Amino acid sequence: MADYLISGGTGYVPEDGLTAQQLFANADGLTYNDFLILPGFIDFIADEVDLTSALTRKITLKTPLISSPMDTVTEADMAIAMAKFEQGFITDPVVLSPSHTVGDVLEAKIRHGFSGIPITETGTMGSKLVGIVTSRDIDFLAEKDHTTLLSEVMTPRMELVVAPAGVTLKEANEILQRSKKGKLPIVNDRDELVAIIARTDLKKNRDYPLASKDSHKQLLCGAAVGTREDDKYRLDLLTQAGADVIVLDSSQGNSVYQIAMVHYIKQKYPHLQVIGGNVVTAAQAKNLVDAGVDGLRVGMGCGSICITQEVMACGRPQGTAVYKVAEYARRFGVPVIADGGIQTVGHVVKALALGASTVMMGSLLAATTEAPGEYFFSDGVRLKKYRGMGSLDAMEKSSSSQKRYFSEGDKVKIAQGVSGSIQDKGSIQKFVPYLIAGIQHGCQDIGARSLSVLRSMMYSGELKFEKRTMSAQIEGGVHSLHSFEKRLY
Ligand code: GDP
Ligand code: GDP
Ligand code: 5GP
Repeated sequence: MADYLISGGTGYVPEDGLTAQQLFANADGLTYNDFLILPGFIDFIADEVDLTSALTRKITLKTPLISSPMDTVTEADMAIAMAKFEQGFITDPVVLSPSHTVGDVLEAKIRHGFSGIPITETGTMGSKLVGIVTSRDIDFLAEKDHTTLLSEVMTPRMELVVAPAGVTLKEANEILQRSKKGKLPIVNDRDELVAIIARTDLKKNRDYPLASKDSHKQLLCGAAVGTREDDKYRLDLLTQAGADVIVLDSSQGNSVYQIAMVHYIKQKYPHLQVIGGNVVTAAQAKNLVDAGVDGLRVGMGCGSICITQEVMACGRPQGTAVYKVAEYARRFGVPVIADGGIQTVGHVVKALALGASTVMMGSLLAATTEAPGEYFFSDGVRLKKYRGMGSLDAMEKSSSSQKRYFSEGDKVKIAQGVSGSIQDKGSIQKFVPYLIAGIQHGCQDIGARSLSVLRSMMYSGELKFEKRTMSAQIEGGVHSLHSFEKRLY
């Protein structure tokens, strides 16, 4: 390849960074923190980035996020909240006060791209709503009017249609439709502003925009089974209950047992989507793809609660595992789930940039309101339990996790996971929007308008990566401060 590429008018731009192929060309196993993605060109807003992605050959999700099949992460509450995930309430809108001016609205328009701005007493969220200003209120004002106070041009509170805090998005959307206005402020019983919704969003995504639904408008749901004889009974019950996808839950999926189970399911329920795994090499993936799986789950020993690599000496750094398996499986149209080791939203972006179609998260979603289990306090910190399914703790309580990590005849149980706790994260209704917006911003910096564009940029070699030394990793984190507070959203 040429050393220099022609970039247009101003001359030559030297080639820079590594393609994914080059990044993974030598034998070092890399994981998410070991590399960065070089930024590209931005010509669209983050909000527009399309996160539609395939879970399996036949199932597509609007957001690439899946919760782990673990007894401290996913039961009905989590599954329902994840599937029905709604985006709509803007809980941190730009707000101004009556003593701001028309010029401030115009500035907000330039800065943020919108001019529908709720006005509160103090100009902040949580303060009393006193009016609203939109483009129509200021469109025809002359230059000299830019100093006009918003109190003079706003539509006052008494004329506003609002909705009470606690309305569902659906109800709020109906009110908005009836009011025929562009914005609907949501207020609490003290008349303080808590959120707004915008008509443009309503138009963009009627009802539950990001809901994952099947052809009967039922929410999509997957469930895990093992590969033993009695798992066939669980499989029957799951299909009767309407499961859309079955995950074969095994820490090392390349086995005669799993291959036999794939054949069995495909023969008995030809339309059921089957995800095989876990695998970390193309050779492992090949056997499962040949057996007919519709998706692959990738990761061995990278999970936060996991001690497999320590104990079994087997596994693979997750970045390499995702890249190698995805690069193989895509030739057969089999999407890959990057499972485990996701610590930040940046890791999600990296997993997707390495070819994963979706990511599966345990620790990141554990200790949310929707995760199973009760909160408890330790040293004044509010926590929920989070444990590996291969921890002795989980295995003593559940026979299904025993089977994933043990053979029936094993005399000595060897733990592959630990049991611990995680600090309260609040509801995924707040956390998932943060993840979604974070992924969109990551894609924007890269210059990818959608996840499929992101993947094709990676495979074409247009997407460039760079390895990070230890000191580069330190530089990339917060450093040199005496103290700091890290608030993410
Ligand atoms: P406007 O009439 O100029 O306010 O703009 P639109 O209603 O056409 O579009 C505003 C878009 O920006 C919608 O998709 C909103 O969801 C989005 N948005 C994100 N944050 C805010 C915010 O703080 N205020 C407003 N008004 N819109 C926001
Ligand atoms: P635009 O189309 O983005 O300019 O915004 P809207 O359709 O929200 O607003 C059009 C006009 O109606 C503006 O003068 C707003 O101040 C005003 N307006 C916005 N919401 C309400 C409301 O709930 N009630 C009344 N009476 N007027 C509103
Ligand atoms: P996390 O998101 O917490 O880093 O990882 C979650 C993933 O770890 C799960 O989706 C699952 O694949 C894996 N996992 C769950 N429990 C165990 C365990 O006990 N041992 C091992 N090796 N992996 C586990």
